[in-house]
Amino acid sequence: MNTFSIAIHGGAGTLVKGMMTADLEAQYKSVLKAALDTGYAILENGGTSIDAVEKAVIILEDSHLFNAGKGAVFTADETHEMDASIMDGQSLNAGAVSLISGIKNPVSLAKDVMEKSEHVFLAGEGAMQFAKMNAYKIEDVSYFYDEFRHNQWLEIKDTDSFQLDHATKKDSKFGTVGAVACDQNGNIAAATSTGGMTNKKFGRVGDSPMIGAGNYANNKTCAISCTGSGEFFIRGVVAYDVACLIEHKEMSLEEAANEVIHKRILEIGGDGGLIAVDAKGNIAMPFNTEGMYRGSKSSNGAEEVLIYK
Ligand code: ASP
Repeated sequence: MNTFSIAIHGGAGTLVKGMMTADLEAQYKSVLKAALDTGYAILENGGTSIDAVEKAVIILEDSHLFNAGKGAVFTADETHEMDASIMDGQSLNAGAVSLISGIKNPVSLAKDVMEKSEHVFLAGEGAMQFAKMNAYKIEDVSYFYDEFRHNQWLEIKDTDSFQLDHATKKDSKFGTVGAVACDQNGNIAAATSTGGMTNKKFGRVGDSPMIGAGNYANNKTCAISCTGSGEFFIRGVVAYDVACLIEHKEMSLEEAANEVIHKRILEIGGDGGLIAVDAKGNIAMPFNTEGMYRGSKSSNGAEEVLIYK
């Protein structure tokens, strides 16, 4: 049997160490662990990597602690616009949605785009139409209200600034979420979900729903989910760049992931991190920020849930 494994992240923009209380740290870690265990149980029972990443991300989307689903940040119009994507490394099938609102679990909608449509990427009104056609319930805006997020927005709402994931601000509380997994058959998958950036406008879309930028999976190389300054991750085509270094430069998963996060993305001014898995169940989770909410669990016995370096 193939070594099976899963890794998850809750964003590379963690609270700075001084702001983190023991209680808050315990809350973050408990949700991360629940997501990890949910995904791992699916793999352990012989389930697919696609199901494992979707179900792990759902747990993170259902928590107000992370910037996805329930905890999605506010846009300049005081609304929520969410993005998500998912990719199957065996078939190279992929699904993505962008600029959606009222959907409790954007990752599931992305999966439905992959499985129930002829398309890869649906955005805005059309994506919402597709959701309604597939009997998605539209949640009331109150479901997505979080006082902390609202305060973050109030602080910058009348300015031109939008808040990056890795802001040096002391009270930064961000966190795109994602999962990558390798199942017992050696098939890998990746999923990413986000509310984007506080006070974003003009239909801004980051890297998270873009196949190749914030999310990618191919059994031949790796499955990747990114978190970071989206504009730079798009320009760096980060997720696919890791795959290319493995395929064309014959780097290991770890080498390729480190090269991109500690060198290539820094060179163009980006910050953040990623989680990666390959078809042998190896895992890498590099980041160039102070911390990254993350966890991994493998059938070889290794397990960790961490926030800082
Ligand atoms: N990459 C995301 C975006 O730019 C933000 C994040 O990673 O938290 O939308």
